[in-house]
Amino acid sequence: CGIVGYIGTQVASDILISGLEKLEYRGYDSAGLATIWEGNIHSVRAKGKLYNLREKLTSIEMPSSIGIGHTRWATHGKPEERNAHPHLDNKGRVAVVQNGIVENYRELREELKAKGYEFKSDTDTEVIPHLIADFLATPTSEKPSFLEAVRKTINRLEGAFAIAVLCADYPNELIVARQQAPLSIGLGQGEFFCASDTPALVPYTQAVLSLENGEIARLTHLGVEVYTFAGERLHKVPRILNWSP
Ligand code: GLU
Repeated sequence: CGIVGYIGTQVASDILISGLEKLEYRGYDSAGLATIWEGNIHSVRAKGKLYNLREKLTSIEMPSSIGIGHTRWATHGKPEERNAHPHLDNKGRVAVVQNGIVENYRELREELKAKGYEFKSDTDTEVIPHLIADFLATPTSEKPSFLEAVRKTINRLEGAFAIAVLCADYPNELIVARQQAPLSIGLGQGEFFCASDTPALVPYTQAVLSLENGEIARLTHLGVEVYTFAGERLHKVPRILNWSP
């Protein structure tokens, strides 16, 4: 029910947890986060309150400066740890958090199962990392970029959702997209944030880009690029929030 993301120089997990705390008002039954560290995705999930996730993190060393986080309000699949986000592809290279519902997940699930992908949760969300992994693995004349793989995936999804995605093979990129569910991007100095709502951004920055429906963005250490789902580059102007944390 809440999404946060971070790329910059600070410890991502601290920023993600504090962002998720600011989104607690939206309601949730479980929480999780993923970062990239030493070339791999590290994902931690817990049922119940953020306290449970924080407890798990105390025993895990994750000094990464890129990550995504989620508070889940279950729509498909019971509120259990295995259904908590992030959801990963079978090789553990792609991690996805989703807010909303992928309406056509049943067909996609059958299609992916027929291709050999194994599902580990009961969620609608898990089709997303498998689709992205499939696009990344599909031989084309040009190797598809991470952004392209996520863009192609989004074009296969029906429903109202927002997503944030990490890929261990692209450790300096965070991809986010919005279709009928809120998502804002915070612009800092050499660090960039995303969140379902601005209270999670204001402690860090007041310069905000609101994604509109049908927009996908790539966040790197250098900045933010926004595109339509058709792949056309957009030039958006940030607004400055007049709001003290
Ligand atoms: N439909 C997704 C699920 O049940 C996401 C729910 C949410 O927005 O938290 O996992």
